[in-house]
Amino acid sequence: MRNNLPYPLRTLASQRILVHIVHMSYEEDNGGKRCLECGDVLPYGRKDMKFCSSSCKNKWHYQSRSWVGALKLRTRSILDKNYSILEALLESGVASIDIPDLAQMGYNFDCVTSYHKVRNRDEYRCYDIKYCMSASRVFKLERCPPPPSTSSDP
Ligand SMILES: [Zn+2]
Repeated sequence: MRNNLPYPLRTLASQRILVHIVHMSYEEDNGGKRCLECGDVLPYGRKDMKFCSSSCKNKWHYQSRSWVGALKLRTRSILDKNYSILEALLESGVASIDIPDLAQMGYNFDCVTSYHKVRNRDEYRCYDIKYCMSASRVFKLERCPPPPSTSSDP
C-alpha cells in the first residue's frame, strides 16, 4: 500500500500520517458508490475512489472551484455595492430609511458582514457601517468606531 502512494507523498509523509491516511480510506465503504462527476458505478476494490477516471476527477474539481470562485466574486461585489450605498447615505446625513427605498437603490439585504442581536434589536454591519432594522425600516445607520487594538499609534 505504502509503495502505491505518489513519490512525493512517499518521501515526505511520516509513517504516522501514512497510517492515518490508509486507515481513513478503509473506513469508507463504497458498496454501490458512484462517480461524483458522471454517476457511473465505481469498481470495487479501491475504497477511497470517488471518480471513475482522472478526467472526471479533474472536471469535478474544476467545476467546484469555479462555482465557489464565482460565488465569492458575486458576494464581494454585492458587499462593495452595499457599502457604497451606505456610505453615500451617511455622507448625506441619512440615519434612517424605509426598506423599500433602500432596496430601490440596489441594496441587497442578503449580504452583510455580521449580524448581532443588540438589546432586542437586529443590528447588521457592512464592514465598519452598522444599522438596525425593523420590519419596515433601517435606522441608527452609523459608522462604528475602530476597535482600540487596531491603532498603530505609539
Ligand atoms: Zn466518471
